[in-house]
Amino acid sequence: MADIIHLLPDSVANQIAAGEVVQRPASAVKELLENTIDAGASEITVIIKEAGKSLIQVVDNGCGMSECDARMCFERHATSKIHQADDLLAIRTLGFRGEALASIASIAQVELKTKRVEDEIGTSILIEGTKLINQSPVSCPNGTSLSIKNLFYNVPARRNFLKSNTLELKYIIEEFFRVAMVNPDISFTFFNQDKILYKILPSNLKQRIVNLFGNSFTQRLIPIEQQTALVNLSGFIGKPEFAKKNRGEQYFFTNGRFMKSPYLHHAVENAFQELITKDSFPTYFIFLEVDPKTIDVNIHPTKTEINFLDIKSIYAILHAAIKQAIGKFNLSPSLDFEVEQSMILPPLQPNQQIRPPTITINPDYNPFEKKANPIPAPHSTSMHRATIEAWSQFNQPIEEDIAPKKTPCFQIENSFIITQSKTGIVVIDQQNAHERILFERLLDRTVADEISVQRLLIPITLHLSPNDLLFFQAWKEQFDKLGFEISDFGNDDLLIHSIPSTVGNIPSEGFFETILESLKGHPPDIKSDHANILARTMAKKLAIKRGTKLHLLEMETLVENLFACKIPEISPDGKLTMTILSFEELRKKFKY
Ligand code: ADP
Ligand code: MG
Repeated sequence: MADIIHLLPDSVANQIAAGEVVQRPASAVKELLENTIDAGASEITVIIKEAGKSLIQVVDNGCGMSECDARMCFERHATSKIHQADDLLAIRTLGFRGEALASIASIAQVELKTKRVEDEIGTSILIEGTKLINQSPVSCPNGTSLSIKNLFYNVPARRNFLKSNTLELKYIIEEFFRVAMVNPDISFTFFNQDKILYKILPSNLKQRIVNLFGNSFTQRLIPIEQQTALVNLSGFIGKPEFAKKNRGEQYFFTNGRFMKSPYLHHAVENAFQELITKDSFPTYFIFLEVDPKTIDVNIHPTKTEINFLDIKSIYAILHAAIKQAIGKFNLSPSLDFEVEQSMILPPLQPNQQIRPPTITINPDYNPFEKKANPIPAPHSTSMHRATIEAWSQFNQPIEEDIAPKKTPCFQIENSFIITQSKTGIVVIDQQNAHERILFERLLDRTVADEISVQRLLIPITLHLSPNDLLFFQAWKEQFDKLGFEISDFGNDDLLIHSIPSTVGNIPSEGFFETILESLKGHPPDIKSDHANILARTMAKKLAIKRGTKLHLLEMETLVENLFACKIPEISPDGKLTMTILSFEELRKKFKY
């Protein structure tokens, strides 16, 4: 029998590769854009017609190609970016496989015009389905223009599989954003159907994000910055109150390359956990710089996943950096990140001592005491606008000569507290709200202050199984932080000497057992989060439950305490604590 194995012709091999590299017009746009970046361009124009189905053209002012390279670039595995296997370890360019142009040329009509600065004349090449149709000298500007016409003209199955123009254009714009965002020093122009859709000039990163996503982003971003030996982090996260209901602006870049990382995404989500509702998503634009040796970008031809050598540590660093950024922003509501930080600093005189900043706090401050003057809204920048207004209602100056007018409060279904704010009717879920209050109070204890701890006259004895005892040891530090003083009594017994005052009545042995049991659902792998998890678990256990009848005073206290919280509107679990039915909505409903 004759041998049956043979090598596939190039055109077929390229078409097969194209199946992986170019799934849709957006993938071709991505490849062309990445080539312009690798070519060192500073000005890039993208021209799209019919969502890329009839034309994708990308023009750059980068390094261009010689006559010979212009022909070579369409060969399979033709690349100028690596020479040997070792080079893979130090990849700084976006492309390196030498597959994209060969693939594209096998499934479209491609026209290339390119010229290097040092050449008198450029080269024009016309290729159709891997076949060279024409090559000739051409006079053209320095740089490269690559047009892809009639993508998939010879692969009808692919062409038929494409989505509507609206959707395919959306995918293209998404690819464009990913490249434009990570290259703010490059100017981009984007034409769709001969109309300019984007024209963005070189700027800083923040301005670039605003240019791409709209002016409303000016107020929404908090910078993050963390330099470590393993990774340098920078970029922005969205303020919690602007979290979106859909997975919108979530971007990771590593060494200038867009990437998807469900694992690192989790680190961000986790850091936002107690700050946004369960059904909303944090916004982030996060840039990681790592030594190329510590990553492997070679996993998938479309390369949006990256393997890190030490992803666990990066997770922890990222998580901490975000927590820190959010914390800093919460504590400094008046800090305007618009203004360059260096510009607010007064010039340092020679011999001048640098004093560390000091914070003055009033130890007698009681947020629940009614005063003639309104107390400033705590952490007002972290509140939603509606909540700030609602808050200010509870904080109206009380006129001396008339009896203090309490905002009316009542309970329905033994579960909801109805009250009023300046702008509307507030409905509070007593259980979620109380969880938020307890959670913040328990955590406040971590800012060591003795008053919030209650010493027990007779210590509580806890008898644990050896397994539970081991488990408890892993959490002991967090119990300490919250104000528990627990000592080992031997024989698997623990003695509890003090508890946080927030816990209230002296808890039973059962209380600790339930807490430990719920903690078992949380694998202890991110150190910084443990105190939060413990506080959340306790708050859940201790909170007033739905179905509990409350007295007027209890309701009033709960409402006031809720509005004194840093993030009053959501429970530590990410559920809403309250909702406001605005008078405006009511007026609309009743057709004023
Ligand atoms: P890769 O980017 O993986 O090297 P491509 O098929 O995308 O493979 O490109 C092949 C080669 O063509 C590149 O290595 C580069 O030398 C050259 N090239 C492609 N696009 C451009 C461009 N816009 N400007 C200059 N050179 C380019
Ligand atoms: Mg490439």
